[in-house]
Amino acid sequence: RDDLRGREPYGAPQLDVPVRLNTNENPYPPSPELVKALGDAVAEVASSLNRYPDRDAVALRADLADFLNRDTPGADLTAERVWAANGSNEVIQQILQAFGGPGRTALGFEPSYSMHPIIAHVTGTRWINAQRDEDFGLDPGKAVAAIEEHRPDVVFLTSPNNPTGTALPLEAIEAVLAAAPGMVVVDEAYGEFRREDTLSALELLPEHPRLIVTRTMSKAFAMAGTRLGYLAADPAVIEALLLVRLPYHLSSVTQAVARTALAYADELLGSVDTLRAERDLLVGWLRSQGLRVADSDANFVLFGTFPDRRRVWQAMLDRGVLIREVGPPQWLRVTVGTSAEMAAFRSALTTALKETQ
Ligand code: PLP
Repeated sequence: RDDLRGREPYGAPQLDVPVRLNTNENPYPPSPELVKALGDAVAEVASSLNRYPDRDAVALRADLADFLNRDTPGADLTAERVWAANGSNEVIQQILQAFGGPGRTALGFEPSYSMHPIIAHVTGTRWINAQRDEDFGLDPGKAVAAIEEHRPDVVFLTSPNNPTGTALPLEAIEAVLAAAPGMVVVDEAYGEFRREDTLSALELLPEHPRLIVTRTMSKAFAMAGTRLGYLAADPAVIEALLLVRLPYHLSSVTQAVARTALAYADELLGSVDTLRAERDLLVGWLRSQGLRVADSDANFVLFGTFPDRRRVWQAMLDRGVLIREVGPPQWLRVTVGTSAEMAAFRSALTTALKETQ
């Protein structure tokens, strides 16, 4: 295929180094009690692995709806309005298979999550890059103008945004919904990290049948290895997704593991406060070093600016600390880890800054 020539596969480095702060994972592994519960759940499905899983993952979707109703009571969700797939990357792919595709257009606001345009490309959807502001927020007037100019079939918003950490106020999302002629996806992969005084786009679902809110168990839930992403939307959206998904796309093991993790949601999400506090310390420290730091509502921080960020990234890696070269060219992103990992990060960055000045 000519259109694939020259493209690179997704390539966040997976290196065996002591401190891995490059893919916004949660640093806390499951507790021994949860490990035991997960093992029991897997053992239970093991005896019927000769059979296909529940194709529609109804019990899991009902549990996810319950969880979202606790997060946002006004969302009033049921299994019919929730959908799950192998990570939110697959959720996004299914959305673009259903609502994008050849002859259709998707629009996003850069800098944002790199997989949105990549998945658009692999589904044959034309991608339009609109821009965020200097401070990485979204000016509703400019966003509406971009939408009116391009009339996209799908608009992507990410809140809190990756890689900048910026959360969007509901008014900005409502302005986009009012202007967009097609679907509006709000990617809330980091939704659970948002400040307590800000609201999830789930609030807007009852009024907006063209809104899709995506979430994942990979971040706050600390279950990245499970590969479980999900969305909430109007039942008509779910009916469209049923037409594009592969049969039995969620294994019975995945479904059992995800349901068990949801039963431990309070314990798992207990890390959110710890990580927020660690993030705020990190932001303060980076600023004290004279660096620019983007305000973050997520479990990572974008900081800079460096004339040659690759040198700083490499100097950090030489000290066993892996961070990410992503976003605007002079910035780097670090995931919030444990306090020991953050101490290793500070020490490595102090040396790296001296070396690369
Ligand atoms: N959306 C955003 C904004 C992300 O940052 C990520 C992962 O980093 C994803 C979606 C995909 O997450 P997953 O496929 O693990 O659910």
